[in-house]
Amino acid sequence: MSNPRRATFYNAIAQGAALATRAAQTARWQARLQARRLLPQSCALCAAPTPDALVCAACAAALPTLRDACPRCALPSTAGVPCGACLAQPPPFDATIAAHAYAFPVDRLLQALKYNGRLALADWAAAALAARVRAGRVPPAALAGSSPPLLVPLPLAPARQRQRGFNQAQEIARELGRLLALPVAPALLRTRTTPPQADLPWAERVRNVRGAFAARDRLDGAHVVLVDDVMTTGATLAAAATAARAAGAARVECWVVARTLPQAQS
Ligand SMILES: [Zn+2]
Ligand SMILES: [Zn+2]
Repeated sequence: MSNPRRATFYNAIAQGAALATRAAQTARWQARLQARRLLPQSCALCAAPTPDALVCAACAAALPTLRDACPRCALPSTAGVPCGACLAQPPPFDATIAAHAYAFPVDRLLQALKYNGRLALADWAAAALAARVRAGRVPPAALAGSSPPLLVPLPLAPARQRQRGFNQAQEIARELGRLLALPVAPALLRTRTTPPQADLPWAERVRNVRGAFAARDRLDGAHVVLVDDVMTTGATLAAAATAARAAGAARVECWVVARTLPQAQS
């Protein structure tokens, strides 16, 4: 697909999605702004006064990060070279960026977003991820390319989204798109309902989500960035990446707020 055509294509996806969900988005934005106004102006972690942030600067600087991570899967790797697992069996995504390690207190913040509906924390999560993307020593290939990457939130199964009332990945992706001036589109959908990954042993998670995603339209030549809150085994993101590739995506990256580390995987 040529660049002008690709831009048109992105705009069409973005505009279609925007029209379809504008009313719902407006309601959510208003609810979020209202919730933020009602929040005490204090850090979500230490309760210190913060004028305009959900996590104060001192707490933000102390959050667990990933150093020397594999550029492909974001797991620890000496000197930041591709890890042995990725070399032996390359995953279906090209790169992974994780803002934080999934450890205390990042886990509590993301759980409060997902399970307690503290939607304002999606803005914190997006800001953390945007900072990590901007701070990359090497610009992500997705940003260096001639066409803008398309931010694609990992879809929830419709039943789960109805139950929760929102999709945390979508909330994070929307704010991330605003911060980085990148298009956001729900380009993937769930093709079937799967048991929650968290309920399954690690070995069964790949099989559980295999074939669980499909692209709504062709993504020929697109740079797709899958956005999610947490990457645990990577099985769900791999299944989504496979669907994006099957639809023609030229490059697929995973941008996640937090990455589960190996010692937490037992
Ligand atoms: Zn604090
Ligand atoms: Zn790796």
